[in-house]
Amino acid sequence: MVDYHMHTPLCGHASGSADEYVESAIAGGFREIGFSDHAPMPEGLRKGISMSPDEAEGYVSSIEAIKQEYGGKIKVRLGFEVDFPLFESFDEKYLTDARIDYLIGSCHFVDGWAFDHPAHIDGYNGRDIDDLYDRYYSQLEGLVESGLFDIVGHFDLVKKFGYRPKKDFSRTIEKIAGIAAAKKVAVEINTNGISHPVREIYPSDKIIGILFDRNVAVTFGSDAHSPDRVGYRFTEAAEKIRRAGYRKICGFSGRKRYDIVL
Ligand SMILES: [Zn+2]
Ligand SMILES: [Zn+2]
Repeated sequence: MVDYHMHTPLCGHASGSADEYVESAIAGGFREIGFSDHAPMPEGLRKGISMSPDEAEGYVSSIEAIKQEYGGKIKVRLGFEVDFPLFESFDEKYLTDARIDYLIGSCHFVDGWAFDHPAHIDGYNGRDIDDLYDRYYSQLEGLVESGLFDIVGHFDLVKKFGYRPKKDFSRTIEKIAGIAAAKKVAVEINTNGISHPVREIYPSDKIIGILFDRNVAVTFGSDAHSPDRVGYRFTEAAEKIRRAGYRKICGFSGRKRYDIVL
C-alpha cells in the first residue's frame, strides 16, 4: 500500500516531524509514502495554510534528505499539493523540476473563497449550492485538462460540509473522468473526508464507479496532518475500490506513473 498525501508542520496546521510520518508508515507496513505539502499560497491567504515561497526549497531538500535516510526501509516520494488555478506565489519551476516525483492538483478556492476552510463556512449562507458545484467542477475540469498534475486531490471536496446539490452532476463527472483518462491523470482515494462533516471518502462510491468505467487510475492519500493519521482507514477504502473493480493502483517516481497490484 502507498500513502501519497501527507503534510508537514511547514503548512502551519500539521503536527509531527517528517521523520515521524515515515516511522508511522514503516510501522504500518507501507511500501511507499509521499509528502505533498501545500505549495506556497499568496501572502494574506497562506497564514496557517501553506509554507511561504522562500520555504519551498527547504521543504524539497528536507524530503530529499529523508529519502536517503530511509532508502533501505521504505520508498519516500516528494510532491506538492498545488492549488488550481495556480497562484503566482507557486514557483512554476516546480512543474518541471526533476526532483519532484508527483504533483497533486487541488481546488480549495472558488472565486477566491476557501470553501473547505472551517473559518469561512459562513460563505455557505444563502449560497446556491448547485451553482457552487458547477463552478467547482468547471475549475476541476480545467485542472485535469491543464495536464500540469499527476493526481487530482480530493475530487469531490465541495461536499466537505455536507452541502449536496439538487442537480445531478454525473454527466459533468463522466466528462472530467474522460479527460483524466486521456491525459493520464490519476485520482486519489482520500480517506480524510471520513472525519469531515460529510463523513465519507473523497470521491464518493458513485464517482469511483465512473472513474473505473472510464479507465482512470487511482492512488491513495490519507491527507495526514499528524503522523498517527498515515494510512487512515485504508483497508476499507481498498475494499471500496475493489468492489468497484479496481485490481491495481498507481505510484509515481520522477513524474512517471507505474502500476501497483492491489
Ligand atoms: Zn492541509
Ligand atoms: Zn487539500
